[in-house]
Amino acid sequence: MENNDDSVLAASLEASLLDLRRAEETIKYQHRQLYRMEVRYNELFNSLGDAFCVIEVLFDNNDHPVDYRFLKVNSVFEEQTGIRDPLGRTMREIAPEHEQHWFDTYGRIALTGESLRFEHRAEALGRFYDVYAFRIGDPKDAQVAILFKDIAERKRREELQAYLLRLSDTLRSLSDAVQIQEAVTQLAMDQLAADRCYYCEIENGNAIIRSNTVRSNLPLSSNAPFSNFTIVTNAINAGQPFVVYDAHTEPALDEVSRQACIQFQAISLIVIPVVKEGKPRGGLGVACCAPRKWDAGEMELVRETAERTWIAVEQAKAGEALRESEENYRSIVNQSIAGILKVCLGGNIMFTNDQFSSMLGYSGSELLKLNVNDLIYAEDQERNRLAFTALVSAGTAYEIEKRLVRKDGGMVWVNNHISPIFDKRGKVEAATIVSIDISRQKELERQKDEFIGIASHELKTPITSIKAYGEILAGLMDKSTAPIIVQLVTKMNAQVIRLVKLIYSLLNTSRISGGQLTLQLEPVDLNALLGEHVLQGQLTTSKHHIAFVEQQLPLVFADTERLGQVVDNLLSNAIKYAPKGGDILVRTESRGNYVRVSIVDFGMGIPKAAQEKIFDRFYRVKEAATEAVSGIGLGLYICREIIEKHQGRMGVESVQDEGSTFYFELPIYRISE
Ligand code: ADP
Repeated sequence: MENNDDSVLAASLEASLLDLRRAEETIKYQHRQLYRMEVRYNELFNSLGDAFCVIEVLFDNNDHPVDYRFLKVNSVFEEQTGIRDPLGRTMREIAPEHEQHWFDTYGRIALTGESLRFEHRAEALGRFYDVYAFRIGDPKDAQVAILFKDIAERKRREELQAYLLRLSDTLRSLSDAVQIQEAVTQLAMDQLAADRCYYCEIENGNAIIRSNTVRSNLPLSSNAPFSNFTIVTNAINAGQPFVVYDAHTEPALDEVSRQACIQFQAISLIVIPVVKEGKPRGGLGVACCAPRKWDAGEMELVRETAERTWIAVEQAKAGEALRESEENYRSIVNQSIAGILKVCLGGNIMFTNDQFSSMLGYSGSELLKLNVNDLIYAEDQERNRLAFTALVSAGTAYEIEKRLVRKDGGMVWVNNHISPIFDKRGKVEAATIVSIDISRQKELERQKDEFIGIASHELKTPITSIKAYGEILAGLMDKSTAPIIVQLVTKMNAQVIRLVKLIYSLLNTSRISGGQLTLQLEPVDLNALLGEHVLQGQLTTSKHHIAFVEQQLPLVFADTERLGQVVDNLLSNAIKYAPKGGDILVRTESRGNYVRVSIVDFGMGIPKAAQEKIFDRFYRVKEAATEAVSGIGLGLYICREIIEKHQGRMGVESVQDEGSTFYFELPIYRISE
């Protein structure tokens, strides 16, 4: 039995031992499992991109959170906080300034078990965190796990973006350079929580402060304080940013600048120049009363602000200059004694100045509803239309005298200068008209013409009688007549002929200007007409040889007498203005619907500038050689009027000291006429 008992005991002992070993195995296995889990957990913990820590929140007797202790941190923790060896230490020991709200938040989580996600600044650490915190373990242990990352850079970018948006909005709403500078300096000062902000412009190498925003309790460094800071001015001129963290110790400051900084309580400052095309143009400066470690973000903000301010200020100045020039232009245009208009190609009035409106008795707004062609006197419209068509097609400016009709029906004589306005592709898109009232001048001309008309008419009868008596006298002379009498009578008759011509010229002129030049048109054989007048012309000179070779020509439709008058005049000029004598050529040429007659001389020629003017009334070239030749400047005027009355045209080609070619063209005669 005993044996039996022993064996039972042994068996149960063995069984217990086996159980024990099994239990031991299980524990070992569990330990291994636990170890593996911990390794894995640590690996996981450390492989997190974000910082992670477990803290124990410390409360005072009133259950108020006052501090927390670090129990566990991962490997990213130090990089994200700048805190080394935190384990076992409390936050208050590490950063006594750490804001109370951090303790409050973690205390609440430890007490309530709620988890929380938030973003907050940690000034003492110079960071901005995105945090996820939750309670772990037994609530009694007041442990909180915190997963967090520093988002200061992202925040800085967001803040910069928001600031730049505000800046853009501000700049967009302002168009005055001074207001822009004031607004920007205020904005930048507030954004950086600084105490002063300057915007300066560079003039002759000097940084001149344009806007100076200062917190109210600081001394104002009114006039161009940068000129006191040679070192700042130098930096700006060199186009380099200038940064001072602490004026008391900054080695880059010379003594004068240091004292100036201290006097104006600008202890830390940044000045960033705006450099354009390699030259400093302006600069933005920000200063604080206390030392400050400016970071890259703040420098970037000042740089961006300076740049945008400069652009806005330049635009504002350009806008200002434009407004000013517009203002000037407007006052010049409105004070001008000339009427000024802009018309589109169809003639609608797009702009008119005050003078033009008052000249025609309309209001400005009434004129803007009118077409300029409606203002032109009926008889002048066709002439005007032709000239305007040339302006549109060839872009040539022109001058025209014409009559305009006033609102009250009265008439105004104007001299208009019309110039094209081109679009970007060089096409004429509109025209400007400068219109001068010449009614008074026209009235004087009319009175003068009237006088000339009356005087020449009154002179015509007696002079014709004198001419007849002279001719009778010459006829009575024979060999017995004393030579002196012959000489005097001949001279007298020559002068009388000149006088008759002169009076006829004056009469013609007054007829032309009075619109009384009438033509007796008939088919004319130019060869016969030219031959006859060449012959007569040749009789008046022995020094010249007039050459005329007949060509086969169509008939022209002309007034024989008037045409003869033109030819006589041109021949007599060719003779007069080639006083040394020589050849004179009379040429004809058939040109399509026209026949051209040219009279060529090799005399003194006409200066280029006078070539168009010689067809004006009473115009004579102001050269000694011309003035030595007698004349009154009416011949060519009458000739051109006669030719134009024939629907022809007349012109000259001439080289001074070489000779002139006067030509006229006449339309050929057609049977149907
Ligand atoms: P007038 O000969 O009486 O002066 P015209 O009207 O015939 O008047 O001519 C105007 C001006 O043109 C002249 O004064 C002269 O200066 C210039 N002129 C005219 N014909 C010639 C010519 N053949 N050669 C040079 N100059 C000329």
